Amino acid sequence: MARQMTEESDTTTSFAQRLLAWFDLSGRHDLPWQQGKTAYRVWLSEIMLQQTQVQTVIPYFERFIQSFPTIQDLACASEDEVLHLWTGLGYYARARNLHRTAQRVTQDLDGHFPRTVEALEELPGIGRSTAGAIASLAMGIRAPILDGNVKRVIARHDAVAGWPGSAKTLAELWRLSEKYTPFERVDDYTQGVMDLGATVCTRQSPGCTACPLRATCRAFQRDEQAHYPGRKPRKTLPERQTCFLILQRPDGAVLLEKRPSPGIWGGLWCFPETATPERTPATLEPLLPNGQQPLQALDSIQHSFSHYRLTILPFVMAIGQPTEVVAEVDSVRWIRPGSDVAVGLPAPVSQILDTLLQQQ
Ligand code: SF4
Repeated sequence: MARQMTEESDTTTSFAQRLLAWFDLSGRHDLPWQQGKTAYRVWLSEIMLQQTQVQTVIPYFERFIQSFPTIQDLACASEDEVLHLWTGLGYYARARNLHRTAQRVTQDLDGHFPRTVEALEELPGIGRSTAGAIASLAMGIRAPILDGNVKRVIARHDAVAGWPGSAKTLAELWRLSEKYTPFERVDDYTQGVMDLGATVCTRQSPGCTACPLRATCRAFQRDEQAHYPGRKPRKTLPERQTCFLILQRPDGAVLLEKRPSPGIWGGLWCFPETATPERTPATLEPLLPNGQQPLQALDSIQHSFSHYRLTILPFVMAIGQPTEVVAEVDSVRWIRPGSDVAVGLPAPVSQILDTLLQQQ
C-alpha cells in the first residue's frame, strides 16, 4: 500500500513537472488574454472558449475588449450590443450570462470577481471548470479544471473508460485532475494542460512523440489513443421544421423581431415564424390581399441545436406600404440587408440576409 502511494505521488509530481517544462518551451504565451492579465480578461476569454476554438475566439475577444475595456463598460452595455458583438460565436446563452455576470459583479461585488471557486460558480454561466480556470489563471489559486481538452488528456493518460458526460466517468476525471494539479505555478500548469490538449493530444491525431506525458500514458502504451475519451451514446436527434416569413419592402428592408428571452435564440433578432403545420406559406397564400405577389421560396436551411435539428423554409413576401402593415416598436425593426445592424442575429438569419443582398 505504502509503495503504491509512493508511486502515485511520484507520478503526480512528474505529471505536473513534465507538463510545466513542456509549457515553458512549447506552450502558448502570447494569447491576447494573457497580456495584462486580469480576472475580467481571463473570464471573458474562458466564456468564449467554451465550445469554441482559440483561433475563432481571438478576433471576438479583441472586439469585446475594444468595445468594453472594463467589466463596468460591459455591465452598462445594452443586451443588443452584447449579442451583436457575439453574433457568429453561437451558444448565445453564454453572451446573455456574460452580461448578467458583468452586472452582478459591478453592482453587488464592487467590480471584483470573488476569490473562491464556490463563489465564482454562483455567477451566471460559470461552471466548476470555468471557475477553476479563472481562479488558477487569474488569481494563482490552486483549483483543478476539466474542459474538453483536459478531459481528453487525462482520459488517455489514465485510460479512463466511459463517456465524460456520464456522472461516474466525470467524477473520476475530476478526481484525477485534482490529483495532478500542482501547488506551485498553478497558472502555468492550467494553461499548459489546456495547450497540450489543444495542440498535441488532439482529437484526431495525437502527436504522442512530442508529448511530455508519453512515458506514463496508458493509451499511448496500448496504442489505444482513439478509444479515449469514450464516445457519447448515439441518440437520433428529433427533426423539426419551421417557416420564416420574410416581409420585404420595395427598398429591400426586411422585418425582424426580437425573440423572447429565455428561449431558443433568446434576445436575438429573427424573421417572423410560422411553425405550426396549418400556417405554412401554402395555406397563407390564399389569404393574401388581391394583387399581392406570390411568395418567393428561398433554399431551405438546416440548423442543428444540441437537442434537435431544425429545417428552415424561408419565404419572401414582397409588400408595398410598410408603415400600414407594421410600425417599428422596441421589438420589431426594418433592417436592410448589408447594413451594419447593432443587434444579435442567429446564423440562419445572417445567411438569409446575405442571400437577399446578393439578389438586389
Ligand atoms: S502520449 Fe499521446 S495520447 Fe497520451 S497524453 Fe500524450 S498525446 Fe495524448
